[in-house]
Parts: sequence; C-alpha cells; structure tokens
Amino acid sequence: MEPGVVKAEALLVTKEPYYEPQGDEILLFESAYRNQIPVLLKGPTGCGKTRFMEHMAWRLKRPLVTVSCHDDLTASDLVGRYLITAGDTAWVDGPLARAVRIGGLCYLDEIVEARKDTTVVIHPLADDRRVLPIEKTGEVLYAPPEFALAISYNPGYQSVLKDLKQSTRQRFVALEFDYPSAELEKRIVDHESGVGDDIAGKLVRFAAMTRNLKGSGLEEGASTRLLVHAAKLMVSGISPVAACRGAIAQALTDDPEMLAAIHELSASLF
Ligand code: ADP
Repeated sequence: MEPGVVKAEALLVTKEPYYEPQGDEILLFESAYRNQIPVLLKGPTGCGKTRFMEHMAWRLKRPLVTVSCHDDLTASDLVGRYLITAGDTAWVDGPLARAVRIGGLCYLDEIVEARKDTTVVIHPLADDRRVLPIEKTGEVLYAPPEFALAISYNPGYQSVLKDLKQSTRQRFVALEFDYPSAELEKRIVDHESGVGDDIAGKLVRFAAMTRNLKGSGLEEGASTRLLVHAAKLMVSGISPVAACRGAIAQALTDDPEMLAAIHELSASLF
C-alpha cells in the first residue's frame, strides 16, 4: 500500500456512537444522503456535530473521513500531493480524494477556517456533477452514490472574512444544531461521565449562566463538551469548584474579571 494510506475498513465506525438526537436531524441527514445532497451542520462548537457524524457513519455503515480545517489548510491538503520516497515520486490521495474513492462520508469540520482555495475544490463535488478533478494527475474522480460530503460552520463567529459564501452554502441541506435542552444535556453529561443526575443538573445550570454572558464579555458560553470535561474531572476526584475552573472557566476566557465572575457563579452552585 502507498505511504500514508489508511485502509477503508479502519475508517468504519463499528460500535454505535452514543448520540441523543435534538430533533429530526437523523431523518433529514438520511434523506439528504439517499438523494445525494451534501449537508451543512450549523451550530456552536461542542454541541454534538462531530458525534452526530460518527453516529451517522455507523448508521449508514460507511467509512468516515474527518478533517478539522485550520487556516493553513490548502486544497492540496484535501486532494493530495506527490511525495518523494526513496527517490521515487508517488501520488498520495488527500482525505477528500480518499473519501470519494472509497465511497465514504467526508466531514470537513469548521470549513470557513480553511484557505479560500479549498472551497473551489468542494464546489464540483457539492452539486449534481459530484466530481473531484485532480489537476496534478489529470484525473477526474466521480463520486459513487455512497459518497457524501458534510461540512460544519459556526454562525456565532460571524465576520466578513469567516462567513460562508452564498455560492457555497446554497449547495447544501442545512441542519441546525444548538446546545441541547436542559433535560437532554443533563442526560448527555451524566452518560458521558457517570457523574450522576444531581451534579449533571448543576453543571447544566452553570452552563446556562455562562451562555447568558455571551456578548457581554464572553465570545461563547460553556459548550456541552466543556461540561463533559468538568464532569469527568469530578468523577476522578477533583473538587467541583476546581473542575469548573479548569475545565470550563479557563477554557472560556483569559480575562481576570470575567474569570472571577464565572468562578462566583460556579461557587454559588457547588
Ligand atoms: P462539535 O463537533 O459540535 O464541536 P462534539 O460532537 O465534539 O461537538 O461534541 C462534544 C461532546 O459533547 C461530545 O464528545 C459528547 O461527549 C457531547 N455531546 C454533545 N451533544 C451530544 C449529543 N447530542 N449526544 C451525545 N453526546 C453529545
């Protein structure tokens, strides 16, 4: 096998990932998949989008290729490049080309973070052409019906530079995600950490308080992910106040006044 190539079977999700639906997103995704329409997952960080994709890959029994996009990510990082090994030049597929070839689900997380040339690459894959032209090899990959493209986007971080262009977003079926309802979030935090109903409930109340601070000093409130982190620390013996400080407050901000305010909120609950 060529260097850097992961077998398709290794990308299969064999064990059911725990996922609590927020609405009809499973049905919508399945329907978009059967109709070969790409999907856009909208929502704040840490609210279950990645877990949802893992769950859908398991349900649809397709390999999952996930790419966390960052501001250095180029089209070549997605499509592939020639590598020189032992004096030989060999083409190595990037994750997107790999997903197309194996008929997998390709999930591009936080797509707006990536360099602009990456969106050009996904356009022909995201409309009814469903092709991936590989300029460097002269190949054109036709996506099999099993292939699906999904991208995520956090509308909360809106800025002109980081906005998703209409020409991109209008190719996708959009699924909206948000923090789960209090009851659901309590169940998720308890299930993921084993912290128990009572503490999970308090963490969810604490999260709601931080979410109310969004826009008045905080860029985002505490996500479900952070609650799970704090709960796990508590289960391994860290005091609730220290767990909230380390896993939640410090993750949200560096501002000393804001940290003190968040600390007071957690001290009022625990
Ligand atoms: P995102 O991709 O939106 O940033 P993740 O999918 O990584 O967020 O979610 C972060 C964590 O929160 C997950 O690892 C999981 O523990 C928990 N989580 C959030 N929403 C759900 C959900 N609906 N069902 C199960 N776990 C969830």
